[in-house]
Amino acid sequence: MEGRSHLLVGLTAGVVLDSFVHLSGDPLTLAKTVTVTLLVKKAVYYFSVGFGALLPDIDNARSTLGHKLGVVSKGIQKIAGHRTLFHSLLGLVLGSLLAIGLQQVVIWLLSQRGFTVPADFVGASHLVFFGVLFGCIMHIAADALTQGGVPLFWPNPRRYGFPPDSHWRFRTGTWPEFVIVWSFMIIVGACIWQSVLVV
Ligand SMILES: [Zn+2]
Repeated sequence: MEGRSHLLVGLTAGVVLDSFVHLSGDPLTLAKTVTVTLLVKKAVYYFSVGFGALLPDIDNARSTLGHKLGVVSKGIQKIAGHRTLFHSLLGLVLGSLLAIGLQQVVIWLLSQRGFTVPADFVGASHLVFFGVLFGCIMHIAADALTQGGVPLFWPNPRRYGFPPDSHWRFRTGTWPEFVIVWSFMIIVGACIWQSVLVV
């Protein structure tokens, strides 16, 4: 899938996850008063999910994240190749380690700016870690719907996808991708509207 689709699918799925487990604190749509602390928690959560949703394409120098990282992405693409390591279970482990590091950076940045309550919350709830990990999982799941599939057990090159017959899957960037992404967003949007889901 394209970077923009990954971001939209990741963030929308993030709404669904948070609606059930309330990782990012009380729902905004039900809150009587919206505090800065709550807004910071939400921002950290969605930033983490969005980052995780783009992270696996770090191995593609031409991807949304690859453009920003330049040399790093080119290096990874050269050594491992696109849709290899970072689209596998091993990649999820690496992504988790990166997420633990990023979480420390976020906690430090928040406390530096005087947001000590959200900083403590991030430390206690592992908000960044779970957000990034969930974003990565959604990325790999979304790429599994495309013709190329994903090498889940890389370095084993065998690729997996859903539906298992690749003829039933779509090619990245073609119209079914946009239909799937937008249908998902519209359904989740309608659920929020009907208060079935909360943000
Ligand atoms: Zn990908």
